[in-house]
Amino acid sequence: MRNGEPSDGGMANPTVTLTGWGRVEPTVARIVAPSDPNQVAVTLKEATSRGVIARGLGRSYNNAAQNDGGEVVVTTRMNRIISLDADAGLAVCESGVSLEQLMISGLPAGWFVPVSPGTRQVTVGGAIAADVHGKNHHVAGSFAQHVHWFDLLLPDGQERRVTPADEPRLFWATAGGMGLTGIILRAAVQLTKVQTSRVRVDTVRTADIDEALAYLSATDSSYSYSVAWLDCLARGAHLGRSVITSGDFAKPDDLAPKDRQSPMEFRPVARLNAPNIFPPGLINHYTVALANEAWYRKAPRRRQGEIQTIGTFFHPLDGIRNWNRAYGPGGFRQYQFVVPVGAESTVRTSLEQISRARAPSFVTVLKRFGPGNDGYLSFPMAGWTLALDFPARTPGLEGLLTSLDEDVLAAGGRVYLAKDSRVAPDTLAAMYPRLQEFRAVRAELDPACVMASDMSRRLGL
Ligand SMILES: Cc1cc2nc3c(=O)[nH]c(=O)nc-3n(C[C@H](O)[C@H](O)[C@H](O)COP(=O)(O)OP(=O)(O)OC[C@H]3O[C@@H](n4cnc5c(N)ncnc54)[C@H](O)[C@@H]3O)c2cc1C
Repeated sequence: MRNGEPSDGGMANPTVTLTGWGRVEPTVARIVAPSDPNQVAVTLKEATSRGVIARGLGRSYNNAAQNDGGEVVVTTRMNRIISLDADAGLAVCESGVSLEQLMISGLPAGWFVPVSPGTRQVTVGGAIAADVHGKNHHVAGSFAQHVHWFDLLLPDGQERRVTPADEPRLFWATAGGMGLTGIILRAAVQLTKVQTSRVRVDTVRTADIDEALAYLSATDSSYSYSVAWLDCLARGAHLGRSVITSGDFAKPDDLAPKDRQSPMEFRPVARLNAPNIFPPGLINHYTVALANEAWYRKAPRRRQGEIQTIGTFFHPLDGIRNWNRAYGPGGFRQYQFVVPVGAESTVRTSLEQISRARAPSFVTVLKRFGPGNDGYLSFPMAGWTLALDFPARTPGLEGLLTSLDEDVLAAGGRVYLAKDSRVAPDTLAAMYPRLQEFRAVRAELDPACVMASDMSRRLGL
């Protein structure tokens, strides 16, 4: 298996090669894939010196859910929704339940996930452990803020129900803690009420990055969801030109008459399957420049009130299964940073560096965040986040990203652990001022270092 679900072929703890979604840096681990949360404690109790880490659907980009030479507990068979209160919208589920499952179960009663990343193929455990954010961060914050409690299997095998009120240190070390405080077995997630399963979307094309920043600032309170897709290779007067989509869930009256018969319809199918073999180098600065040009010109200068499905608006990439293979055997590196409000010039200079280096990011997304939360390692802070993905073999990529790290740090910002594959440990420590507190919680909870991942070893978390 490489970044897929483990087969349950009856083999005890098969050894497999794992990567994250970016398909870089494979390592080998023994896989345990229990369907019963009670079986997980045994794995923790029998851990070897290489330790144990949880893995959901493997959508983090690098090695947060890998554990070279150790154990990886894959949670995707612990995927039962235990209860869903149709009146209050509280979902109690096992941690391997995906956000797609929650949508399928919740939408008929008018409930949507409170926060959705750019893919719905994410487990509840992975969403808490990375404290994921969505296009509504400026109004809803990140995922953990909607979690009433979770049951955490501590490194010593004890199970504990953790709420933010009763156990704030453990709650906020686990939210964004990348699986290093234990294994989340179950969680109670407050869903969000919607009147239909469609989104009413306004689209605007901006000439450059300054216009995009100004538009997103000015419209922050007008929409629940917004995001800008940028052309990272555009230069000069076109630097950071973008297409911004903003929206809210539609009301029944917004729908076309035929759709009013099924206002909560949701058909989560991946229409296409990416082939197994892509030629190396398919994604390069020529192809990305061409694609960006076509995509920018095709977008309307301004369009209002378009009705889109959840898939089109929130998860366009989920339409093609395994699209990550398009980067070829070398894989790709995601890079996502946030800088505080007031550091807009860092967003601009980072785009200047990227376009000057002709580094081709196929998916480049800018978003304005609202305030962060109490998570020790939670990524968001009030400001601007830019996410990019580059073919891993892009010449000069490491130097470019290290230079971006320095600028982000100087601006008071940070990079996102769920996407990171190469930041230097001391740079990360300077970016996350509460890392010491996180380490202190871990030292108390886990003196034997049972929880471990390739990422925790790489960064000294
Ligand atoms: C196309 C795409 C778009 C994305 N868009 C966004 C976005 O908009 N916003 C955003 O925030 N993220 C985004 N992501 C990243 C993704 O949401 C996170 O990496 C998320 O954590 C993945 O969840 P997973 O179930 O796949 O977890 P994995 O990748 O398997 O694991 C991620 C981390 O969670 C831990 N973990 C998983 N399950 C548990 C558990 N039961 N208990 C304890 N720890 C656990 C793992 O140890 C690991 O540290 C995107 C990813 C992709 C591929």
